[in-house]
Amino acid sequence: MERKCVVCHDRPLRFRCLQCHKPVCDECSFKTEHGAFCSRECADTYRDFKRSQAPEARRPSRRLLKLVALLIALAAVALAAAYFLGRLPGLPGKP
Ligand SMILES: [Zn+2]
Ligand SMILES: [Zn+2]
Repeated sequence: MERKCVVCHDRPLRFRCLQCHKPVCDECSFKTEHGAFCSRECADTYRDFKRSQAPEARRPSRRLLKLVALLIALAAVALAAAYFLGRLPGLPGKP
């Protein structure tokens, strides 16, 4: 038993809309980077849903911020160590 596309009722289904799960054929499907949909509306709805559902989308920049903070802290520690070891030239306070 072969299911038919719900849009054109002609061609056999190739995809199932990720949003409303309607079966659609290759011609009628609306493809995005998220997958195949039956219409642009469904693709937009799915994308908006994914966006609202995924706070991880903001995680990479946060991780980057943490990394930068860590690097700055490391640099500060290295500078302080260099200062106290007297390795930095031209620093005052050294005999
Ligand atoms: Zn179709
Ligand atoms: Zn749909």
